[in-house]
Amino acid sequence: MSIEQLNEQIRNCRRCPLWQGATQAVPGEGPIDAKVMLVGQNPGAEEDKAGRPFVGRAGKFLTKTLAENGINRAELFITNIVKHITPGNRKPSADEIAACIPYLLAQIAIVKPKVIVLLGATAKETPRLEGIEYMEIIHPSAAMRFKNMREKFEKQIAELALRLQRLA
Ligand code: SF4
Repeated sequence: MSIEQLNEQIRNCRRCPLWQGATQAVPGEGPIDAKVMLVGQNPGAEEDKAGRPFVGRAGKFLTKTLAENGINRAELFITNIVKHITPGNRKPSADEIAACIPYLLAQIAIVKPKVIVLLGATAKETPRLEGIEYMEIIHPSAAMRFKNMREKFEKQIAELALRLQRLA
C-alpha cells in the first residue's frame, strides 16, 4: 500500500468514535524513507485545523529545539498514536489506541525507520518491533511548561542528534 492510499484510509476511518469530534484526520507527514519517526499522543486543536501534526505551540517548540540541535524537522516522519483529535485533548482510551494502532504499524512498514522516538507517556504504548531502536522522550508540551523537564528534553533531543549522525 502507498502512503497516499494509507492516508486516504485514515481520512475515511470510522473505527473509533474520535472522528466525530474532528475537523479532519491528521495522518502524519514526512519523507517515506525517513530514518527517524516521531510519535506523539494525538492531534491537538491547531493540528485538527491544519491537518498536519505538531504545528501548534508544542510543535513549534519541538521544531525549534530540533533545529537548535541541527535536525531539520522536514527530514523526520512525524505522526501520533491516534490520528484524530480527542475531546478536550484528553488521553486516548485503550480502545481508541487499539483501533488506531494498525495505521501506525502500516506507516512503520512503509517508512521502515531505524529509530522511533516516542513523545510522552501515551506514545510508549507503540508496539516494539525487532530491528528498530526506540527512544522515549518527554512530550514537548510538558517540556514547555516545566523548567526541569525542558532541560531533560533538550538533552534528549541532543542525544537524538548524535544518533542521527551515527545513522548518516
Ligand atoms: S482515531 Fe484512528 S481509529 Fe479512531 S477514527 Fe481516527 S483514524 Fe480511525
